[in-house]
Amino acid sequence: MFSDMKLFYINSRFSLYVGVSSGFSDDLQSNLVQCKRPHEQWEIVSLPFRDLGSTELLIRVHASGICNTDHFLMDGTWPGTQYPRVPGHEVIGRIAQIGSDLMKNPSKADRYAVGSLVGVGWNGGFCAQCECCRNGDFWSCTEVAYTGFSHDGGHAEYVYVPESAVIHIAEEALETATYAELAPLCCAGATVFGAILTSKWSPGDICAVQGVGGLGHLAIQIASNLEKVYAISSTSSKKALAISLGASGFIDSSKEDAVDYIRKLGGAKLIICTAPSSSQISAILPAISKNGMITLVAAATDGPIKVDNLLLNINRAALRGFACGCAQDTEKCISYATAKGIKAKVREFSLENFTEAYEDVMRNTANLRNVVVFP
Ligand SMILES: [Zn+2]
Ligand SMILES: [Zn+2]
Repeated sequence: MFSDMKLFYINSRFSLYVGVSSGFSDDLQSNLVQCKRPHEQWEIVSLPFRDLGSTELLIRVHASGICNTDHFLMDGTWPGTQYPRVPGHEVIGRIAQIGSDLMKNPSKADRYAVGSLVGVGWNGGFCAQCECCRNGDFWSCTEVAYTGFSHDGGHAEYVYVPESAVIHIAEEALETATYAELAPLCCAGATVFGAILTSKWSPGDICAVQGVGGLGHLAIQIASNLEKVYAISSTSSKKALAISLGASGFIDSSKEDAVDYIRKLGGAKLIICTAPSSSQISAILPAISKNGMITLVAAATDGPIKVDNLLLNINRAALRGFACGCAQDTEKCISYATAKGIKAKVREFSLENFTEAYEDVMRNTANLRNVVVFP
């Protein structure tokens, strides 16, 4: 039934419109923030719409979280990035337009309905044909795309997204969280959810979460449904927050020896390192228990992590990194978060205040997660 139609969902300044059309009118533009070239300031511009690819969706963005990794775009350090480029890979919005090939399959009609609630995360799509994809490891696709680097991201009123990158979200998610509170689940939340889900643990094990920031405050909520969580931070004012999120205890590493504290409890079976400080990460590693697993989800670029070879040997402990999975993994994370009432603590910004919101994140003074909203 959709074969010859293009459908649109537009609201906010354009008011809701769902109907049949050959395309957006020429004078309709999308406001967005972009980096013109490395080391230049962000600029807010209005750009016209382009033709939609046959396997793409156009999404009307309602919220887009600022992730620490957005700085790779301004620094010019993400390999292969073409400029100008729009950042943003924690996106919540609604389908505005559907690629023609996606409308040919009647079985997908429910998935691809104009107005449906969707998200976009760090994984910007996969090829479904390489050996990794054929083995079901879509996140490790040899042709993998990254939202906001391989193609434009969601700090924009509208974003074009390959079908394989679209996160489908049940409307129930909005009963317990706002668009902005959901957005960080598309990268920060999905990353720590995957890290905890794929760790070896038993109920009652101790999990140490290093850092109570954008990643850490979500890790505390997710892990506290499974394990005893001890939050570690050098910012003593974060104690009340960590406890309110479900932590069994808070260790102020500026005042006490966190390793000694956790060792007295028997050691941590899991250590999730979330704050991007190589010295703070290195300092907490000796808190690992026998057969424990240390997972680095932070993107610390301030120097190498130092780890004692014997610490890992004697404890038969594992040290690994972990990055966000693909859309299917994030759907599981958001479904779990909805069931448990888990959501991000956010501060909302308008697009006009993007630079202020970004610099707040880079100074590490953000109130956990800064999110650009498009009402
Ligand atoms: Zn991210
Ligand atoms: Zn592939």
